[in-house]
Parts: sequence; structure tokens; C-alpha cells
Amino acid sequence: MQGVGFRPFIYRMAVKHGLSGEVDNRNDGVYLIVQGDSSAIDRFTNDVLHNAPPASRIKSIEMSPVRTAGYEGFSIAESKDFNRNVTEISPDIAVCRECLDDMETDPARIAYPFVNCTHCGPRFTIIEELPYDRQNTTMRSFEMCSKCKSEYSNIYDRRFHAQPIACNSCGPVYKYEDYSGFCTDIHDIVERITLQIDSGKIVAIKGFGGYHLLCDAFNNNAVLTLRKRKQRDSKPFAVMFRDIETASEYCFIDEEDKNELLSWRRPVVILRQKNELAPAVNNGLSTTGALMPYMPFHYLLFKKLNTRAIVFTSANMSDEPVIIDDVIACNELTRVADSMVSYNREILNRADDSVVRFINNRLTVIRRSRGFVPGPVDIRFEAEGILALGAEQKNSFCIGKGKQAILSQYIGDLRNKATLEFFTGSIERFGKLFRFKPSYLACDLHPDYLSSQYAENLEARLGIPLLKVQHHHAHIASCMAENCIDEEVIGVCFDGTGLGTDGTIWGGEFMITDLCEFRRYSHFDEIQLPGGDIAANEPWRSAFSYLWKYFGDDFDYYSIPAFRTISQEKFLALREMLNKKINTPLSSGAGRLFDAVSAMTGLCTFSSFDSEAPIRLESAICDFTDDFYPFQAGKTVMFRDTLKEILKDIPERSVSLISAKFHNTIARLILDVAVQIRSETSVNKIVLTGGVFQNKYLVEKSLYLLRKCEFETFTNHYVPPNDGGISLGQLVIASKKREICA
Ligand code: ZN
Ligand code: ZN
Ligand code: FE
Repeated sequence: MQGVGFRPFIYRMAVKHGLSGEVDNRNDGVYLIVQGDSSAIDRFTNDVLHNAPPASRIKSIEMSPVRTAGYEGFSIAESKDFNRNVTEISPDIAVCRECLDDMETDPARIAYPFVNCTHCGPRFTIIEELPYDRQNTTMRSFEMCSKCKSEYSNIYDRRFHAQPIACNSCGPVYKYEDYSGFCTDIHDIVERITLQIDSGKIVAIKGFGGYHLLCDAFNNNAVLTLRKRKQRDSKPFAVMFRDIETASEYCFIDEEDKNELLSWRRPVVILRQKNELAPAVNNGLSTTGALMPYMPFHYLLFKKLNTRAIVFTSANMSDEPVIIDDVIACNELTRVADSMVSYNREILNRADDSVVRFINNRLTVIRRSRGFVPGPVDIRFEAEGILALGAEQKNSFCIGKGKQAILSQYIGDLRNKATLEFFTGSIERFGKLFRFKPSYLACDLHPDYLSSQYAENLEARLGIPLLKVQHHHAHIASCMAENCIDEEVIGVCFDGTGLGTDGTIWGGEFMITDLCEFRRYSHFDEIQLPGGDIAANEPWRSAFSYLWKYFGDDFDYYSIPAFRTISQEKFLALREMLNKKINTPLSSGAGRLFDAVSAMTGLCTFSSFDSEAPIRLESAICDFTDDFYPFQAGKTVMFRDTLKEILKDIPERSVSLISAKFHNTIARLILDVAVQIRSETSVNKIVLTGGVFQNKYLVEKSLYLLRKCEFETFTNHYVPPNDGGISLGQLVIASKKREICA
């Protein structure tokens, strides 16, 4: 990847081992010729493999002997095809250990909060176009001082060609502001901000990819105030811990969690909670989203702060994108934060903190942004010119460059106006950044999605083909693509909603698919969704609808304790809607079944954030059992017996046990249907995807059962199983279809 210092690293290693030759960066990788003693070449190879810059990506190394005219010394070749074709841009990289040391020892960088080198610092968020040169980044307005310039030009220096190179006398600076005035001295700023956080105030700070809001994670009043001002009811906040030792006091951290927390990407890692922070941080969930400091400024803060953990959340209002503009920040955030810290370098590409979770000991990306974007996904097909627009919620789009797919950062819910602007703006920026001109389009089948409408407009304007891809086929294809599968698979896709080819809402799908076609083998029983989209926010409606469907008009809803807070009028109105089929679209969405069980068990009847009901249902599990409920799996999966038994268990058993049994039921169901399909088709590869598979318990249980029966199982890792990964699926389906048509 560009900007991670790979070629200079090769140069330094070659010189260290006394080798001559040259290194050249080409479209398909780095070529190098080394000439010298064979034992020195072995040591060199070893160094390249084990000491490469952290953010570089070595997929494979091929070696073969060549005959050359002989080299004197080692050099970096002027790349011929470099400028036009190399399009890999590094994601932003957390500050490295050596730069942190420089903040204590390098006279020009004492406490300098923009310290960086070729191994660390901002990349994607500051770049406007290729090649990755300072002139094409927002660093262009800062002229290098003579010290920085000499480091920048010295190949033996860690900052050789570090485009954002800066120091105390030449780089960007922070600025503190509150109602009483401002200051720009870094020691003053840190002093004031830490004092505020420690006294329960809320502060806004400009980060790599947008503004953040911070407060003391141990101060419940501060967290509640932040919730109120941010209009965020109960969605859990991410927490930044001072160090890994502190994090492990409050969360269970495995070796793999630890490595990820401390990796150069520094994502938010979802961990099981060990001890509670302020209760308002995660409102009773059993997990905490933890992250480590990743900007030099964060380290300066924790050096002074008394508290060892801070709430660290994107500064945005409800569904809007995170704020990157200083003027907007100044206007909007003064209502939310007691003070604000910004800096005088523009953010070009917005990037939220990424969120990951280890499921079955493997990394699963839940929200793909800072640290991941714009890292490419290697696919097997030529995808040049394909633009896939994604779905509606958790939108991302995706462009094809050669045999690589480059996904955009997490965009959000397009129904929000500001988010839609972020979407269209980012498509334009990606076009410029990656020199990309679309020649083929792919979008969701749903005509109301704003991403589909955008695609249709583009189709009309540019006169290029547009392929509409069924939502769950795209989910399954996303998982196939990142696992390099191009054959028929059993596709299990469980999510909340997606338009089916029959006009109803799908989302509890067992399909037999390849990258071109799909066949719907079996699906969850359809229920009427009273109120349509509203049902997703009010899980009791799904519960009501399931119970009404299976047990009829006379079912006694008040026999379920969780329903006693809901008025008779509401029940009557819902029953009327269902009987007369008024605004009750049919849905087979698996998310609705999880909603129903979560509501019936009293965990979540009204939801205040996306997927709250299923998240609380998973979070409630603390008992371990292999028991499961009965169900009927044929061409339609019926849950009448499941719900009947759950109703029996509600007064007698713990919510934890009911939830575990319910999850086991779904895992059993997956196994049963998979076995049916395998016996009919002999297909043995099975793909689990869709938002429901962010559920660690469900995935682990399902994989365990499937592997015991010798299925080859696949899940998403590098792109999210939720709608954030849809655009990749659309792109590979489009590339496959285009290939066949050509
Ligand atoms: Zn560094
Ligand atoms: Zn300087
Ligand atoms: Fe979906």
C-alpha cells in the first residue's frame, strides 16, 4: 500500500545486509532484485517477512533466480506505471511507539500532537487525489521546516517520504475553545480539557476522521448528560481505556482481542464486560465496546487525566454523519459539549471508528471505517468500472479496480438527508481519488432505496447498464467473495429486511446460490408486520403478530407479564390492522422473530436503537445448555411449537435460559435445513451471512453443529455480515454476470 514506507524499508534492509539491486513498485506488487551472498539474502528475506512496516500487506512472496548485468549498490527504481495504476491507499494508522518516544525526546517534537512517520499517522482522511504526495493532501498548506525537510529527504530516516511529516515549528496545531475564550498552547489545552473531563464535563475533540465527544466513563451523571444532549437514548457508548491493563480490569480480553486492540487499526473491539463502568455507558448489556488511544493527543490526555476510561463517541446528532467541518462543529457542538478542541488541518474523507468482534476466534468487522478503509478486498473477477451502490441502512458503496473491490467507509442510513449528501459526495470523491469512471452499475432490488434511485439516475445520465440485485443474494455473495468461492453453496441469510422477488419482505432465507443465480429453498414463516417499518422499532408488534398468527384472536396477551404495560387499545388497534390487512406487509425477516422473543421475555418491547431487541436477547444469555425448542422445517419454517414452548417457559424459567434455548433452536434449524439441502443437492459448502450473524452465540453454536456434520462453513470477516457488506456482494454478482455476457 502506498504511504506505509515499504520501498524505503526494503532499501534500508538491503543496505543493512550489504546487498545490491533495486526495488520497483508495480501495479500488481513490489518487484525487487537483490544481488549478494546467499546467506545475506536469507537474512534479508527473513527481515522482510518479519519486520515489514505494520500497515503493509504482504499477501505472498515469490522468489526466483535471475541473471542480471550486475548492480552497484541498491536503488529505488523510478516506477514507470506507478502513477497511473497503483491505487492502493493506506488507511489511517495509529501513532507508533517510536513517535510516542519522540514526543518525550525529540526537541522539535516534545508533546507535539501531530507527530507521525512512514509507519503511522493519517492517510485516507487527508488525501484528495493520487499519487499520495504531500501536495495532494491537506498537509499542502503547511510548509516543511528545514529539519523536517532533511528528514523527509533522508532515506535512512524513519520519516523519509512521510507525507504528513511535521514538527512543533512547522505543522498543524490544536486550538481550545469554550464560552470564555480560547488558547493554543498544547500544555494549556491538555490541562483545561483533562480538568473538564475529570469534573464531569463533556468535551468535543477533532480526531482523524471526524469530531468525537468525550466524558468520564465512571461518572454516570456525565454519561447521562451526554446521552440527553446527543439525543441518544440507550445505544451503548464506546469506551477508550488508558491502557490495556485498565481495559482488562473491566473487560475479558483474550490474546486475539488484545492484539486487535493494540493493532495499528485500533478499532473498537466488542468485549465481554468484567466490571461495570458508569451504568449509563452500556445500559445493562453484558458487552463493552473498548478501544485504545490512537492519536498522539489521546496519549497526552491520559497522561494528565485522573480517570482511566472515557466515553469516546462520534460527534453527530442522532442519525447524521459524524461532523468533520470546523464551522459546523462550532455551531452544533456548543450545544452538546462544554468545550471544544479543534485543529487547523482539514479532514477530507470522513471516517468513523471501526467496530469489530471476535466470533469463533475470528475477526468479524461490524462497522468498517477508520483503519480498514480504503483497503481493498481481493476478488477473483475483473471488476474494473463496476460501481455498486449498496443498500439503505448502514450503507457502504463499492468500486471495482482490476481484480480488487474497494469499499467506501461506513456511510450510514441514507434516509437521513445529511447522510445522503455524504453518500453522493463520497462517490464523487472516490471517483477522483481512484481515477474511477463507472461503466457498469449494481444496486438493490428495492426501488425505494435512495441508493437504488441514485443508481437509476446515473444509469439514465451516463447510459450504462444497471443490474438490480436481490438483497439476500447480495449478502450471500459478499461472504462468497471474501472467501474466494465461485461455485454453488447453501446460502443462509438471516437479517431484518430486504425486498424479495415476490414483492414481500424477505430475511429468513435458505438459498441455493452461486454468483449468478439463486433459488429460494426454504424461508421463515411470513408474518404480517403491523405498521411496516415501525415494527422494527417496536418489537412487541412482531410478538403480537406471531402470536396472533399462531394462536388466533382469542390469545390472552396479558398472560405475558411484559405485555401488561401495553394498553388494551393498542392491542385492539393492532388486531384490527391484522384482520383487515391494513398496512401489514408480509415479512419473513429473521430479525422479527428475534424481536418477538425479546419482547415476549420482557427484554425489549420498544427499541431505542438499531437491533436493540436481538442484542439484548443475546446479551441475556449466561446459562449454558444444549436444549432447544421444537420447530417445523420444510419449505417454510414454522415457529408455532417454538413459541408455544417459550410461552410455557416464561413463568418458570430464567430469561437467560429461554434465550439460550431459543438461540440453540435457530442453530438446530440451520443444521436441519442444511442437511436436507445437502441430501438433495450434495452441496457441502454453507455460507452464514446477514445482520443476524453478528450474534456471537448464534454463529458459534451454528458452526459447531455444522462442522460436527462435516459441512464446510463460511462467514464474513473482512466486510460486515450486515448491510455494510452488501455492496461487495452486488459488485461480484455484477462482475460475474458481465463476464458471462461478454
Ligand atoms: Zn510513527
Ligand atoms: Zn518541521
Ligand atoms: Fe440485509
